[in-house]
Amino acid sequence: KLSQRLEVVANNIPKGFRLADIGSDHAYLPCYAVKVGIIPFAVAGEVVEGPYHSAKRQVEIEGLQEQISVRKGNGLEVISSEEVDCISIAGMGGALITSILEDGKEKLETVKRLILQPNISAISIRNWLSQNGWVLIAEEILEEDNKIYEVLVAEKGNPLNKPEKELQMELLFGPFLLKQNSAVFKKKWSAELRNWQRILNQLEKAADTEETRSKKHELIEKIKMVEEVLEIEK
Ligand code: SAM
Repeated sequence: KLSQRLEVVANNIPKGFRLADIGSDHAYLPCYAVKVGIIPFAVAGEVVEGPYHSAKRQVEIEGLQEQISVRKGNGLEVISSEEVDCISIAGMGGALITSILEDGKEKLETVKRLILQPNISAISIRNWLSQNGWVLIAEEILEEDNKIYEVLVAEKGNPLNKPEKELQMELLFGPFLLKQNSAVFKKKWSAELRNWQRILNQLEKAADTEETRSKKHELIEKIKMVEEVLEIEK
């Protein structure tokens, strides 16, 4: 059975789209999406030998060799231009996902949708999207096995003009997640808040250098934003 996390990713693939799942590991996501009839074709990309073999084996076990092409290579280099309509990258840090997109930019020209599931640092993905002609069209947050995951869905487009403060909030929290303000969202940011407060406390005790001062300033700004979102009275 597919994890809830990957099911959310799968549910955001438009029906009939050709998919590239980058960093596919066991290729569970493309196998599921083909089996339930969401997609007719997928590329499963893996850069590491072990996971590449796991993906190959899984596709053979499921008898999906005709529909899923398992390829070994770094990031988007495994796809040729115009081969897919949609790219999913799940289960990695936001910075790694961003670098895969950045390094494979020319392959994105004909891609219509990105579905990204960062384990940490969704902010770096939102930053990259907004600077590269992509806009978020949906976001989801979910908890599974005591971990909280975010799924970001983007299509090409230009961002609306918004006040700087609002932009900063949306980059950190996600425009859709901010509006939904769900229980899982509150749980995630309450934990982040406690973590940042703990770090700030330690910095208060550290030597007062230019570096600690700027770190403290940055943390205080982030803490203020979270307190505002969680409606914590000071
Ligand atoms: N996408 C699956 C999921 O969400 O369950 C697997 C996630 S697994 C934690 C991350 C996978 O990404 C690893 O198998 C790793 O080998 C692969 N990976 C990391 N960097 C990559 C890159 N630049 N190109 C292709 N695959 C990469």
